[in-house]
Amino acid sequence: MTRKIYLAFLNDHFPPFCQNLAGDLSRCLPYIFSYISIDIDLNLFYSEERNQYHSTFILSKILNHLPSDGEKIIGITNVDIYIPILTFIFGEAQLEGKGAIVSTYRLHNKFYGLPANNRLLYERTLKEVLHELGHTLGLVHCTNFECVMHSSTYVEDIDLKKATLCRECQKVLGTTCREDR
Ligand SMILES: [Zn+2]
Ligand SMILES: [Zn+2]
Repeated sequence: MTRKIYLAFLNDHFPPFCQNLAGDLSRCLPYIFSYISIDIDLNLFYSEERNQYHSTFILSKILNHLPSDGEKIIGITNVDIYIPILTFIFGEAQLEGKGAIVSTYRLHNKFYGLPANNRLLYERTLKEVLHELGHTLGLVHCTNFECVMHSSTYVEDIDLKKATLCRECQKVLGTTCREDR
């Protein structure tokens, strides 16, 4: 039986082209991907002084929504998320764990004062989801700057990466990424 990962859209936030995520992720990860929509009261995790939402707390709520036939769940939100030691994060994952979260807030061109580009937004979202799921599968950050497991501080770092794992990371997972995009 193929194992299942749930892609959980928070509070009806469906990023452009998100229906492509399952197919694109399954090129690299030998899982079945299912979509669910979940509601989480994000106000509980809002920090007034930072005007941001605490990622780790949201992630723990996301985990409560993991269906029993699922091995992992990744939440996708449009709010700006943080952990206390960083000014912001694109996403967070439990290393070799069940859960992860990605925010599209800082993946939009609009955030940087540039014209909207839904294609680019999708590519960034795909890369960040693949990156965080890689962590849940035990992958750590990779030194290859084109590898999706390379760490990204700025959105430009994300754009330099490919939406795929390098050969070394594929070896660690024991998988082969298909190049059919
Ligand atoms: Zn990372
Ligand atoms: Zn790598």
